Amino acid sequence: MNFETAAIHAGQEADPRTGAVVSPIYQVSTFKQDGVGGLRAGYEYARSGNPTRDALEECLAALENGTHAFATSSGLAAEDLLLRTVLRPGDHLVVPIDAYGGSYRLFARVLAPWGVEHTAVDQSDLAAVSAAIVPGKTKVIWTETPTNPLLSISDISALAKIAHDAGALLVVDNTFASPYLQRPLDLGADAVVHSTTKYLGGHSDVVGGAIIVKEPKLAESIGYNHNAMGPVAGPFDAWLVLRGAKTLAVRMDRHCENARAVVDFLVVHERVSEVRYPGLVTHPGHEIAKRQMRDFGGMVSFRVRGGVEAALQVCKRVELFTLAESLGGVESLIEHPGKMTHASVAGSLLEVPDDLIRLSVGLEHKDDLIADLAQALS
Ligand SMILES: *Cc1c(COP(=O)(O)O)cnc(C)c1O
Repeated sequence: MNFETAAIHAGQEADPRTGAVVSPIYQVSTFKQDGVGGLRAGYEYARSGNPTRDALEECLAALENGTHAFATSSGLAAEDLLLRTVLRPGDHLVVPIDAYGGSYRLFARVLAPWGVEHTAVDQSDLAAVSAAIVPGKTKVIWTETPTNPLLSISDISALAKIAHDAGALLVVDNTFASPYLQRPLDLGADAVVHSTTKYLGGHSDVVGGAIIVKEPKLAESIGYNHNAMGPVAGPFDAWLVLRGAKTLAVRMDRHCENARAVVDFLVVHERVSEVRYPGLVTHPGHEIAKRQMRDFGGMVSFRVRGGVEAALQVCKRVELFTLAESLGGVESLIEHPGKMTHASVAGSLLEVPDDLIRLSVGLEHKDDLIADLAQALS
Protein backbone atom coordinates (compact mmCIF):
# COMPACT_ATOMS: atom_id res chain seq x y z
CA MET A 1 0.00 0.00 0.00
CA ASN A 2 1.33 3.44 -0.87
CA PHE A 3 2.05 5.95 1.88
CA GLU A 4 -0.90 8.25 1.17
CA THR A 5 -3.30 5.31 1.19
CA ALA A 6 -1.91 3.81 4.41
CA ALA A 7 -2.20 7.21 6.11
CA ILE A 8 -5.94 7.18 5.45
CA HIS A 9 -6.72 3.47 5.80
CA ALA A 10 -4.19 1.63 8.01
CA GLY A 11 -5.85 0.88 11.37
CA GLN A 12 -8.91 2.79 10.21
CA GLU A 13 -11.58 0.26 9.29
CA ALA A 14 -15.11 1.57 9.72
CA ASP A 15 -16.31 1.15 13.32
CA PRO A 16 -17.69 -2.42 13.54
CA ARG A 17 -20.68 -1.47 15.69
CA THR A 18 -21.97 1.62 13.89
CA GLY A 19 -20.14 1.84 10.58
CA ALA A 20 -18.70 5.26 11.57
CA VAL A 21 -16.02 5.91 8.94
CA VAL A 22 -13.74 7.63 11.44
CA SER A 23 -12.41 5.81 14.49
CA PRO A 24 -14.51 6.91 17.46
CA ILE A 25 -12.78 8.46 20.47
CA TYR A 26 -13.08 5.70 23.04
CA GLN A 27 -12.97 8.06 26.01
CA VAL A 28 -13.19 5.30 28.58
CA SER A 29 -10.96 3.83 31.28
CA THR A 30 -12.37 0.31 31.66
CA PHE A 31 -14.30 -2.30 29.69
CA LYS A 32 -17.15 -4.56 30.89
CA GLN A 33 -16.28 -8.25 31.07
CA ASP A 34 -18.81 -10.98 30.32
CA GLY A 35 -17.85 -13.14 33.28
CA VAL A 36 -14.36 -13.17 34.77
CA GLY A 37 -11.82 -13.10 31.95
CA GLY A 38 -14.56 -12.76 29.33
CA LEU A 39 -13.27 -9.83 27.32
CA ARG A 40 -15.48 -8.80 24.39
CA ALA A 41 -12.79 -7.42 22.13
CA GLY A 42 -9.56 -8.00 24.02
CA TYR A 43 -9.82 -4.75 26.03
CA GLU A 44 -9.86 -4.66 29.83
CA TYR A 45 -8.31 -1.41 31.07
CA ALA A 46 -7.35 1.56 28.92
CA ARG A 47 -3.73 1.93 30.03
CA SER A 48 -3.16 -1.60 28.69
CA GLY A 49 -5.11 -0.97 25.49
CA ASN A 50 -7.64 1.41 23.99
CA PRO A 51 -9.19 1.08 20.51
CA THR A 52 -8.48 4.70 19.52
CA ARG A 53 -4.84 4.36 20.51
CA ASP A 54 -4.65 1.01 18.72
CA ALA A 55 -5.91 2.63 15.51
CA LEU A 56 -3.19 5.27 15.70
CA GLU A 57 -0.51 2.69 16.50
CA GLU A 58 -1.49 0.51 13.55
CA CYS A 59 -1.38 3.54 11.26
CA LEU A 60 2.02 4.73 12.54
CA ALA A 61 3.52 1.25 12.20
CA ALA A 62 2.38 1.19 8.56
CA LEU A 63 3.71 4.70 7.85
CA GLU A 64 7.19 3.84 9.16
CA ASN A 65 7.12 0.38 7.56
CA GLY A 66 7.45 -1.18 11.01
CA THR A 67 5.38 -3.87 12.65
CA HIS A 68 4.64 -2.34 16.05
CA ALA A 69 4.05 1.22 17.24
CA PHE A 70 3.54 2.58 20.74
CA ALA A 71 1.75 5.91 21.14
CA THR A 72 2.87 7.91 24.16
CA SER A 73 1.84 11.05 26.01
CA SER A 74 4.72 13.09 24.51
CA GLY A 75 7.84 12.70 22.40
CA LEU A 76 10.00 12.72 25.50
CA ALA A 77 7.83 10.03 27.08
CA ALA A 78 8.55 7.89 23.99
CA GLU A 79 12.29 8.53 24.32
CA ASP A 80 12.28 7.72 28.04
CA LEU A 81 10.19 4.57 27.55
CA LEU A 82 12.48 3.31 24.80
CA LEU A 83 15.77 4.13 26.51
CA ARG A 84 14.83 2.77 29.92
CA THR A 85 13.62 -0.40 28.19
CA VAL A 86 16.79 -1.09 26.20
CA LEU A 87 19.44 0.35 28.58
CA ARG A 88 20.58 -0.61 32.06
CA PRO A 89 22.69 1.37 34.54
CA GLY A 90 26.31 1.03 33.40
CA ASP A 91 25.42 1.20 29.70
CA HIS A 92 26.52 4.02 27.43
CA LEU A 93 24.96 5.83 24.48
CA VAL A 94 26.32 7.99 21.66
CA VAL A 95 24.26 11.09 20.88
CA PRO A 96 24.51 13.99 18.40
CA ILE A 97 26.13 17.25 19.51
CA ASP A 98 23.10 19.18 18.33
CA ALA A 99 20.36 16.92 19.67
CA TYR A 100 16.96 18.40 20.46
CA GLY A 101 17.43 20.26 23.76
CA GLY A 102 14.84 18.20 25.62
CA SER A 103 16.47 14.94 24.48
CA TYR A 104 19.82 16.23 25.70
CA ARG A 105 18.26 17.12 29.06
CA LEU A 106 16.87 13.57 29.28
CA PHE A 107 20.34 12.11 28.57
CA ALA A 108 22.17 14.48 30.95
CA ARG A 109 19.75 14.99 33.82
CA VAL A 110 17.68 11.80 33.93
CA LEU A 111 19.69 8.97 32.37
CA ALA A 112 23.10 10.05 33.70
CA PRO A 113 21.98 10.06 37.38
CA TRP A 114 20.36 6.67 36.66
CA GLY A 115 23.81 5.41 35.64
CA VAL A 116 23.78 5.69 31.84
CA GLU A 117 26.54 7.89 30.45
CA HIS A 118 26.57 9.44 26.98
CA THR A 119 29.12 10.87 24.56
CA ALA A 120 28.02 13.69 22.25
CA VAL A 121 29.67 13.77 18.81
CA ASP A 122 29.19 15.41 15.44
CA GLN A 123 27.46 12.49 13.72
CA SER A 124 28.14 13.72 10.23
CA ASP A 125 31.68 12.55 11.08
CA LEU A 126 31.42 8.73 11.06
CA ALA A 127 34.98 8.28 12.36
CA ALA A 128 34.02 10.37 15.40
CA VAL A 129 30.99 8.16 15.98
CA SER A 130 33.11 4.98 15.80
CA ALA A 131 35.67 6.53 18.17
CA ALA A 132 32.94 7.33 20.70
CA ILE A 133 31.84 3.69 20.98
CA VAL A 134 32.80 2.16 24.32
CA PRO A 135 33.19 -1.56 23.50
CA GLY A 136 30.78 -3.73 25.44
CA LYS A 137 29.09 -0.70 27.02
CA THR A 138 27.62 1.29 24.15
CA LYS A 139 24.15 -0.13 23.64
CA VAL A 140 22.53 2.68 21.66
CA ILE A 141 23.53 5.15 18.98
CA TRP A 142 20.93 7.89 19.06
CA THR A 143 20.61 10.05 15.98
CA GLU A 144 18.48 12.87 14.70
CA THR A 145 18.56 13.79 11.04
CA PRO A 146 18.01 16.54 10.08
CA THR A 147 19.06 17.87 13.48
CA ASN A 148 17.45 20.61 15.46
CA PRO A 149 18.19 23.49 15.02
CA LEU A 150 21.27 23.24 12.78
CA LEU A 151 19.73 20.85 10.23
CA SER A 152 22.84 18.69 10.01
CA ILE A 153 22.48 15.36 8.25
CA SER A 154 23.73 11.99 9.42
CA ASP A 155 23.93 8.87 7.26
CA ILE A 156 21.37 6.45 8.71
CA SER A 157 22.61 3.32 6.87
CA ALA A 158 26.23 3.98 7.86
CA LEU A 159 25.27 4.62 11.49
CA ALA A 160 23.22 1.40 11.53
CA LYS A 161 26.28 -0.54 10.43
CA ILE A 162 28.50 1.07 13.10
CA ALA A 163 25.86 0.38 15.76
CA HIS A 164 25.32 -3.24 14.74
CA ASP A 165 29.05 -3.96 14.54
CA ALA A 166 29.28 -2.73 18.14
CA GLY A 167 26.29 -4.80 19.29
CA ALA A 168 24.25 -1.62 19.76
CA LEU A 169 20.89 -0.43 18.47
CA LEU A 170 20.41 2.55 16.19
CA VAL A 171 17.56 4.82 17.26
CA VAL A 172 16.44 7.62 14.93
CA ASP A 173 14.45 10.62 16.12
CA ASN A 174 12.48 11.12 12.89
CA THR A 175 10.45 14.10 14.09
CA PHE A 176 11.88 16.66 11.65
CA ALA A 177 11.55 14.53 8.51
CA SER A 178 8.33 12.67 9.36
CA PRO A 179 7.81 9.18 7.90
CA TYR A 180 6.69 10.72 4.60
CA LEU A 181 10.16 12.11 3.90
CA GLN A 182 12.33 9.46 5.53
CA ARG A 183 11.87 5.87 6.72
CA PRO A 184 14.77 4.92 9.01
CA LEU A 185 13.68 1.29 9.58
CA ASP A 186 14.11 0.69 5.83
CA LEU A 187 17.66 2.06 6.14
CA GLY A 188 18.67 -0.31 8.95
CA ALA A 189 17.59 1.55 12.10
CA ASP A 190 16.19 -0.55 14.94
CA ALA A 191 13.75 1.97 16.36
CA VAL A 192 12.19 5.27 15.33
CA VAL A 193 10.88 7.83 17.78
CA HIS A 194 8.61 10.76 17.03
CA SER A 195 7.29 13.79 18.72
CA THR A 196 3.85 13.49 17.10
CA THR A 197 3.29 16.98 18.49
CA LYS A 198 5.06 18.20 15.36
CA TYR A 199 4.41 17.14 11.72
CA LEU A 200 2.37 14.00 12.43
CA GLY A 201 -0.17 15.94 14.51
CA GLY A 202 0.46 18.93 12.31
CA HIS A 203 -2.00 21.44 13.77
CA SER A 204 -0.33 22.64 17.01
CA ASP A 205 -3.17 21.22 19.06
CA VAL A 206 -1.76 18.09 20.72
CA VAL A 207 1.34 16.84 22.54
CA GLY A 208 2.22 13.24 21.79
CA GLY A 209 4.93 10.79 20.88
CA ALA A 210 5.54 7.37 19.39
CA ILE A 211 8.05 4.55 19.07
CA ILE A 212 8.01 2.32 15.99
CA VAL A 213 10.00 -0.91 15.65
CA LYS A 214 9.93 -4.07 13.55
CA GLU A 215 11.81 -6.63 15.62
CA PRO A 216 9.31 -8.77 17.64
CA LYS A 217 11.43 -9.20 20.80
CA LEU A 218 12.13 -5.48 21.01
CA ALA A 219 8.43 -4.79 20.42
CA GLU A 220 7.49 -7.18 23.19
CA SER A 221 9.72 -5.52 25.79
CA ILE A 222 8.62 -2.00 24.83
CA GLY A 223 4.98 -3.14 24.86
CA TYR A 224 5.41 -4.59 28.32
CA ASN A 225 6.90 -1.36 29.67
CA HIS A 226 4.36 0.81 27.83
CA ASN A 227 1.83 -0.74 30.18
CA ALA A 228 4.15 -1.19 33.18
CA MET A 229 5.53 2.36 33.10
CA GLY A 230 2.28 3.85 31.77
CA PRO A 231 3.27 6.82 29.52
CA VAL A 232 0.35 6.16 27.17
CA ALA A 233 -1.38 8.55 24.77
CA GLY A 234 -4.92 9.41 25.87
CA PRO A 235 -7.78 8.60 23.47
CA PHE A 236 -8.51 12.16 22.37
CA ASP A 237 -4.82 12.90 21.84
CA ALA A 238 -4.45 9.67 19.84
CA TRP A 239 -7.46 10.66 17.74
CA LEU A 240 -6.01 14.11 16.99
CA VAL A 241 -2.70 12.61 15.84
CA LEU A 242 -4.53 10.06 13.69
CA ARG A 243 -6.56 12.88 12.13
CA GLY A 244 -3.33 14.75 11.43
CA ALA A 245 -1.60 11.72 9.94
CA LYS A 246 -4.26 11.38 7.22
CA THR A 247 -3.05 14.59 5.55
CA LEU A 248 0.65 14.23 6.32
CA ALA A 249 1.72 13.61 2.72
CA VAL A 250 -0.05 16.61 1.20
CA ARG A 251 1.02 18.85 4.06
CA MET A 252 4.66 17.79 3.82
CA ASP A 253 4.72 18.42 0.07
CA ARG A 254 3.57 21.99 0.67
CA HIS A 255 5.87 22.50 3.70
CA CYS A 256 8.80 21.52 1.46
CA GLU A 257 7.69 23.74 -1.41
CA ASN A 258 7.23 26.76 0.85
CA ALA A 259 10.53 26.12 2.66
CA ARG A 260 12.34 26.04 -0.69
CA ALA A 261 10.82 29.42 -1.62
CA VAL A 262 11.87 30.91 1.73
CA VAL A 263 15.39 29.49 1.31
CA ASP A 264 15.67 30.97 -2.21
CA PHE A 265 14.74 34.36 -0.73
CA LEU A 266 17.13 34.12 2.23
CA VAL A 267 20.26 32.87 0.45
CA VAL A 268 20.56 36.06 -1.60
CA HIS A 269 19.56 38.47 1.18
CA GLU A 270 22.37 40.82 2.19
CA ARG A 271 21.53 40.68 5.92
CA VAL A 272 21.69 36.88 5.99
CA SER A 273 25.16 35.41 6.55
CA GLU A 274 24.28 31.71 6.33
CA VAL A 275 21.27 29.55 5.48
CA ARG A 276 21.08 25.99 6.76
CA TYR A 277 18.79 23.78 4.69
CA PRO A 278 19.65 20.24 3.52
CA GLY A 279 18.17 20.99 0.10
CA LEU A 280 20.97 23.45 -0.65
CA VAL A 281 23.73 21.88 -2.78
CA THR A 282 26.20 23.75 -0.58
CA HIS A 283 24.92 21.94 2.55
CA PRO A 284 27.60 19.41 3.60
CA GLY A 285 24.99 16.67 4.03
CA HIS A 286 23.10 17.40 0.81
CA GLU A 287 24.11 14.22 -1.04
CA ILE A 288 23.21 11.97 1.91
CA ALA A 289 19.92 13.83 2.41
CA LYS A 290 19.10 13.36 -1.27
CA ARG A 291 19.73 9.64 -0.93
CA GLN A 292 17.79 8.99 2.26
CA MET A 293 14.99 11.59 2.12
CA ARG A 294 12.15 12.05 -0.35
CA ASP A 295 12.43 15.84 0.02
CA PHE A 296 14.18 18.24 2.39
CA GLY A 297 11.50 19.28 4.84
CA GLY A 298 9.91 22.45 6.17
CA MET A 299 12.55 23.55 8.69
CA VAL A 300 14.98 26.32 7.79
CA SER A 301 17.64 27.93 9.99
CA PHE A 302 19.63 31.04 9.16
CA ARG A 303 22.05 33.47 10.70
CA VAL A 304 21.70 37.22 10.44
CA ARG A 305 24.46 39.81 10.33
CA GLY A 306 24.62 41.91 13.50
CA GLY A 307 24.74 39.20 16.16
CA VAL A 308 22.22 38.32 18.82
CA GLU A 309 20.54 41.76 18.86
CA ALA A 310 19.85 41.63 15.12
CA ALA A 311 18.45 38.10 15.42
CA LEU A 312 16.14 39.08 18.29
CA GLN A 313 15.02 42.12 16.30
CA VAL A 314 13.92 39.92 13.38
CA CYS A 315 11.99 37.64 15.75
CA LYS A 316 10.25 40.72 17.13
CA ARG A 317 9.46 42.37 13.79
CA VAL A 318 7.77 39.47 12.01
CA GLU A 319 4.00 39.78 11.85
CA LEU A 320 2.85 36.60 10.12
CA PHE A 321 5.39 34.19 11.59
CA THR A 322 4.42 33.47 15.18
CA LEU A 323 7.16 33.66 17.79
CA ALA A 324 6.84 30.30 19.51
CA GLU A 325 8.65 27.08 20.30
CA SER A 326 7.62 23.85 18.57
CA LEU A 327 7.27 23.21 14.83
CA GLY A 328 5.46 21.24 12.18
CA GLY A 329 2.06 22.94 12.38
CA VAL A 330 0.10 24.57 9.57
CA GLU A 331 1.10 28.05 10.82
CA SER A 332 4.63 29.33 10.33
CA LEU A 333 6.69 29.77 13.49
CA ILE A 334 9.92 31.61 14.23
CA GLU A 335 12.19 31.22 17.21
CA HIS A 336 15.61 32.08 18.58
CA PRO A 337 17.14 28.73 19.61
CA GLY A 338 19.88 30.30 21.74
CA LYS A 339 17.38 31.97 24.05
CA MET A 340 14.41 29.63 23.63
CA THR A 341 14.49 25.92 22.72
CA HIS A 342 18.23 25.54 23.28
CA ALA A 343 18.75 27.82 26.28
CA SER A 344 19.30 24.73 28.46
CA VAL A 345 22.40 23.71 26.45
CA ALA A 346 24.18 27.10 26.67
CA GLY A 347 27.77 26.60 27.75
CA SER A 348 27.80 22.94 26.65
CA LEU A 349 29.08 21.31 23.47
CA LEU A 350 25.56 21.64 22.10
CA GLU A 351 25.46 25.44 22.29
CA VAL A 352 24.14 27.07 19.09
CA PRO A 353 25.23 30.40 17.49
CA ASP A 354 23.41 33.35 19.08
CA ASP A 355 22.62 34.96 15.70
CA LEU A 356 20.72 31.85 14.58
CA ILE A 357 16.99 31.95 13.81
CA ARG A 358 14.90 28.84 13.20
CA LEU A 359 11.79 28.81 11.03
CA SER A 360 9.09 26.20 10.86
CA VAL A 361 7.68 27.09 7.46
CA GLY A 362 3.93 26.54 7.45
CA LEU A 363 1.23 26.25 4.82
CA GLU A 364 0.36 29.92 4.26
CA HIS A 365 0.95 31.34 0.75
CA LYS A 366 4.68 31.51 0.19
CA ASP A 367 4.53 35.08 -1.12
CA ASP A 368 3.03 36.25 2.18
CA LEU A 369 5.74 34.45 4.15
CA ILE A 370 8.49 36.00 2.06
CA ALA A 371 6.95 39.48 2.30
CA ASP A 372 6.89 39.14 6.09
CA LEU A 373 10.54 38.09 6.25
CA ALA A 374 11.47 40.90 3.86
CA GLN A 375 9.93 43.57 6.10
CA ALA A 376 11.42 42.01 9.24
CA LEU A 377 14.90 42.00 7.70
CA SER A 378 14.64 45.47 6.11
C1 LIG B 1 9.69 18.34 20.15
C2 LIG B 1 10.73 17.33 19.93
C3 LIG B 1 10.93 16.27 20.83
C4 LIG B 1 10.15 16.15 22.12
O1 LIG B 1 8.80 15.92 21.92
P1 LIG B 1 7.65 16.41 22.93
O2 LIG B 1 6.41 15.96 22.23
O3 LIG B 1 7.76 17.90 23.07
O4 LIG B 1 7.89 15.72 24.23
C5 LIG B 1 11.90 15.33 20.53
N1 LIG B 1 12.66 15.44 19.42
C6 LIG B 1 12.52 16.44 18.54
C7 LIG B 1 13.38 16.49 17.35
C8 LIG B 1 11.56 17.42 18.77
O5 LIG B 1 11.43 18.43 17.90
